[in-house]
Amino acid sequence: VAICEQMEYPRQAKGLVKREVVRVVTPGTVIEAEALRGKERNYLASVWCERRGCGLAYADASTGELAVTEWRGARAGEELLAELNRIDPAELLVPAGAYRTEGPGEERIWSAEYAALTEWARSSLPGQVVTERPAESFSHRRAVQTLTGHFAVATLAALGCQDLDLAVRAAGALLEYLQETQKSSLSHFTRLHTYWGRDYLGLDPATRRNLELVESLHWRERKGSLLWVLDETVTAMGGRLLRQWVERPLLSVAEIRRRLEWVAYLVERPEVREELRLHLRQVYDLERLIGRVGYNTANGRDLVALARSCAALPAVRSLLLASPAALLRQLGEEMDDLQDVKELIDRALVDDPPATVREGGLIRPGYDEEVDRLRESSRAAKEWIASLEAREREATGIKSLRVGFNKVFGYYLEVTRPNLHLVPERYQRRQTLANAERFITPELKEQEALVLGAEERIVEREYELFLAVRDAVAAAAPRIQATARAVAAVDVLAALAQVAVRWNYTRPEVDEGGEIEIEGGRHPVVERMMSEVPFVPNDCRLNHAEQEFILLTGPNMAGKSTYMRQVALIVLLAQMGSFVPAARARVGVVERIFTRVGAADDLASGQSTFLVEMSEMAYILRHATPRSLILLDEVGRGTSTFDGLSIAWAVVEFLQGGPGPHPFTLFATHYHELVPLVETLPQARNYQVAVASSEEGIVFLHRIVPGGADRSYGIEVARLAGLPWPVVERARQILAGLERSRPAGKPLGRGDRPAGVQQLSLFSPLRSFLEELAQVEVNRLTPLDALNLLADLVERARRLLGEEGERAAAGRREAAGGPRG
Ligand code: ATP
Repeated sequence: VAICEQMEYPRQAKGLVKREVVRVVTPGTVIEAEALRGKERNYLASVWCERRGCGLAYADASTGELAVTEWRGARAGEELLAELNRIDPAELLVPAGAYRTEGPGEERIWSAEYAALTEWARSSLPGQVVTERPAESFSHRRAVQTLTGHFAVATLAALGCQDLDLAVRAAGALLEYLQETQKSSLSHFTRLHTYWGRDYLGLDPATRRNLELVESLHWRERKGSLLWVLDETVTAMGGRLLRQWVERPLLSVAEIRRRLEWVAYLVERPEVREELRLHLRQVYDLERLIGRVGYNTANGRDLVALARSCAALPAVRSLLLASPAALLRQLGEEMDDLQDVKELIDRALVDDPPATVREGGLIRPGYDEEVDRLRESSRAAKEWIASLEAREREATGIKSLRVGFNKVFGYYLEVTRPNLHLVPERYQRRQTLANAERFITPELKEQEALVLGAEERIVEREYELFLAVRDAVAAAAPRIQATARAVAAVDVLAALAQVAVRWNYTRPEVDEGGEIEIEGGRHPVVERMMSEVPFVPNDCRLNHAEQEFILLTGPNMAGKSTYMRQVALIVLLAQMGSFVPAARARVGVVERIFTRVGAADDLASGQSTFLVEMSEMAYILRHATPRSLILLDEVGRGTSTFDGLSIAWAVVEFLQGGPGPHPFTLFATHYHELVPLVETLPQARNYQVAVASSEEGIVFLHRIVPGGADRSYGIEVARLAGLPWPVVERARQILAGLERSRPAGKPLGRGDRPAGVQQLSLFSPLRSFLEELAQVEVNRLTPLDALNLLADLVERARRLLGEEGERAAAGRREAAGGPRG
């Protein structure tokens, strides 16, 4: 959308009023608060790919955040796509012609990467917002010019990106695009953040999705995600930063411990935490406010909101500075209380300014002498006019004389027809109506000129003054942004402390030791979702000496997936610097987490469920290292039993075999045939989820205990899910037959005919029972017939079921007789 404005006052223009496009709004450059959600960011990304690697730059136009990174080598493209997935841009800039084999000019574009990008953008970006930019815009020379020019530095070294050729090209094109579309100084882009993928815990897109970090897998909404549990932030900036922390946990032990130190202090000092949060609640979205100032689109209300936010800062700052924790004091020092900015705005602007800045009513009395003087003379003139009516009635004796105003004639005196003979000579006729005439007098016109002239000048002067205030605020942008960053960090830390206290999290020990030890760990989201029964905590130990691979078997619904994910989430939480839902945890930092969980169809891109599963598996096996944590849930389920089992078997051997990568792996499966295999692997262990069998069926204990399971109780779960009774019954029969026909552990061969399994024959008693039932015409039964029929059916059903039916009947009788057990 191109926004055009008149560039001169119509009255002063000669001929046509000059008009210009003042801004072009695109999906990646929206800054209007109404179009953005407070705690969500809106990124514009730009990419440059060559044979050597890929560069990426991305920016949030509304806040002035700008970050660059690049990857070299064969996997650059993959890494780029994973990162794009994380930042989830609203718009993507690519060089024009990128999709062609022949690259422009001296550089041959690595078109395979762009092809993958287009593919990705098509499936991931709403509305496929890929914007092609001229290839010159990505040229290194031009990018250097754009960047050094904008940041007013002599060389790229000052920005710390002198060695990132590829990223620099992407960043140059991005900044140029912003300048072109926003047509403003972009003064709120004050920093360029350079980062490397190796600084953060590696999370590929599938893993991010599967672990439900920022949205739930099923409903794709915030509720049910890790972020939903953690988000106790009270500012929009804190909300956005928390999301960044969740999506980018750290690798540096020192950095992680620093964050933990902060959180610990705020956990231990509830009164400090509460007070901080109380003040933080008063802080508006400073980052976006200053963004609008940078674009020259901030209005009076924005500035007043800024001033109100500043009012809360001294209290926050002094709380931080007063803390004995050096780290919090440091945050306090990074903050500026911005009292000069607040004072200027308070002094200049009224408390509740209008939304427009060109119609006056903005400037506070006493701020500017000229405005005050003009307002005074306008007021005096208006008063004179207001009192004119009474004076003229008196002087002329016309009781119905009236003073009015319209746009064409300005102020006038109106006299009705019957009184016209009383009109004095000094009145000048201006307009004749059906039963009245309108007049003016020279004095009236004089006062009118005073009012109108003053008002026009006031509007002009107020606008000038407002711009001056806005420019002064813009000049303070770096300080405001630094403060906003500190505020966001404090907010996130306080939120993590709040969560820790509320849900009983503990401080994890984080080290380089390469071992994971969790005692009494819980799943942060599942425990919050469960209201009726308590969550059963579980331990987990992973180390390279004796237990790096855990094969997890056990019934459906027992909690295998929950357990695996809770281990990954606890590790992730620890590495983002948060307390964790466990009685005790020691986490040796892992470099990457991989997951292969559940079924996902990607029909849109022409991939079947099983193909998606195998592609994800392939990705994991090719990238796993000894410092990875891998969750594999039911590998091989999407194909025939033998194919699936064989693949699962080979995967276990690959990971744990002699030359294998030996990552930490949690492997949940219903292929009980793998249990004996794991027994032969030195660093692999079998665990199962404990269940208790009782007369009523099985009871899930949700406890993870050593050993392998040999049953999945799938039919029990099917029954619980409400599969029709004949199907459940029939499945039981088939299972019994299958189990009789083969020794435990031996897979069923093609030639193996399950013995003892009878077909559901046309003449079986069950069949005839069902047929009779199907013939009943419910509408024609009398109540008494119905009751008799019901009794009869129940009786026959029990006979059909034999022993089991009797037991169920006995149970019911007992239950009816009073509470059991
Ligand atoms: P399947 O093999 O069918 O995929 P699963 O063993 O992976 O099943 P989960 O999906 O992890 O089972 O868990 C099923 C349900 O059991 C969860 O939704 C949760 O309600 C409950 N549950 C899981 N773990 C626990 C626990 N530790 N304490 C209490 N309830 C739990």
